[in-house]
Amino acid sequence: MIKKSAHEMSQALAGGEITSVQLTQQHLNRIASVDTDVHAFLHVDAEGALAQAASIDAARSRGEKLGPLAGIPLALKDVMTQKGIPTTAGSKMLEGWRPPYDSTVVTNLKSAGIVILGKTNMDEFAMGSSTENSAYGPTHNPWDLSRIPGGSGGGSAAALAAFEAPLAIGTDTGGSIRQPAAVTGTVGVKPTYGGVSRYGLIAFSSSLDQAGPCARTVLDTALLHEAIAGHDPRDSTSINAPVPAVVQAAKSGDVKGMKIGVVKELNGDGYQAGVRSRFEESLELLAKAGAEIVEVSCPNFEYALAAYYLIAPSECSSNLARFDAMRYGLRVGDESGASAESVMNLTRDIGFGREVKRRIILGTYALSSGYYDAYYGSAQKVRTLITQDFEKAFTHADVLVSPTCPTTAFKIGEKSNDPLAMYLNDIATIPVNMAGIGGMSLPCGLAPEDSLPVGFQIMSPAMQDQRMYLVGAALEAALLAQWGAPLLSQAPVMGGAQ
Ligand code: GLN
Repeated sequence: MIKKSAHEMSQALAGGEITSVQLTQQHLNRIASVDTDVHAFLHVDAEGALAQAASIDAARSRGEKLGPLAGIPLALKDVMTQKGIPTTAGSKMLEGWRPPYDSTVVTNLKSAGIVILGKTNMDEFAMGSSTENSAYGPTHNPWDLSRIPGGSGGGSAAALAAFEAPLAIGTDTGGSIRQPAAVTGTVGVKPTYGGVSRYGLIAFSSSLDQAGPCARTVLDTALLHEAIAGHDPRDSTSINAPVPAVVQAAKSGDVKGMKIGVVKELNGDGYQAGVRSRFEESLELLAKAGAEIVEVSCPNFEYALAAYYLIAPSECSSNLARFDAMRYGLRVGDESGASAESVMNLTRDIGFGREVKRRIILGTYALSSGYYDAYYGSAQKVRTLITQDFEKAFTHADVLVSPTCPTTAFKIGEKSNDPLAMYLNDIATIPVNMAGIGGMSLPCGLAPEDSLPVGFQIMSPAMQDQRMYLVGAALEAALLAQWGAPLLSQAPVMGGAQ
């Protein structure tokens, strides 16, 4: 029997009811039985995971003091380097590459004694909202296998929803932690930019990328947040300040007297009716728990998506220039006499998928001399306006809230030929990245029209991440009291079956 939360598993480990090796084996068995259908994993490291689990068990039996998540299995998004373990970022460009080093997130996971089960599927180089852009085939949503699990971190979210892992790591550049969490009925947090090190995170858009914790409960997410966060001299944008007290906040969940600001621009036309009604009901629950609900306006959010699709592709065109067929990864057409340029051209043509090429072309254009000011320069100005909108809104409220996504999970294939429709998924998540603040998505029920999970987004000011955990824990507790059981136990296909 796989227990529901990492926190409960941790108590079972500490109480000697189960060993980490047994817990890890249970999850490996679960992966073996469901992952042919879900396809959450690109690589499962059974041997490494069991060895890590055995060493935690040994440390425990020696009486060593262990962290709160020691011995708990985790699924790692394939955009994070882990020494000696295949790391592809969902691209053919890196097929077979085994990094010679651990990312700081992995170093922190290992020192917390967290057991890494394997690498999860994702949109190529984290570009997408459905995991359909993976070069290794799509991941399926455990709630309905014909639907997308969100993206780019669809593999991590699906692994949680299918009970293949109780913890996962995601990365969020424009919503890739929160949107998959929303459509799979799981919890995902994008910490304040700079809160978690980017060292060893394969870069997409460096000024926006941020790694964060994913789990099935707010408390588990907080425990994982504390395990991975903190200053890292290897990341020049890492914040040198104490990690916000997120676990304490998740345990408290006291929102009495807190002001919660509903962002007017993120809850209107274009949002599915059932998404809006679940969102409104959650606001009522928070009001009942003692919070004051106010409305705030962020007029410049209207331009966030357009500005994001200039900034992110611009940075990606620069970051992805390193895949030049010379240093590592794929190399095609290097028979003798071939010029370096032709090898690079051929390799990049074969190695990158359509969406990645689209973004490189867009970004290169936006950065070209003559267009730089009109495109990239204007987008940066919009970014400042969005930050100012947030600053103003946070003078009226402690946290801001909205639905995480305009709709529930759509069908695989439904939007793959319409990039603009795909981009619109991130309309409510992108402003958070633009301003570098914190964002959480937690499940707030099923939309009545399709019985699929709806996500509730909470945004907190930079380095005030504890505030979103306070509100998240309060809402989670109120919803649990209403439902009587966690949402995932209602999942029709994979989630309930254990
Ligand atoms: N869906 C957005 C995009 O395609 C965000 C991706 C992300 O957060 N990595 O760029």
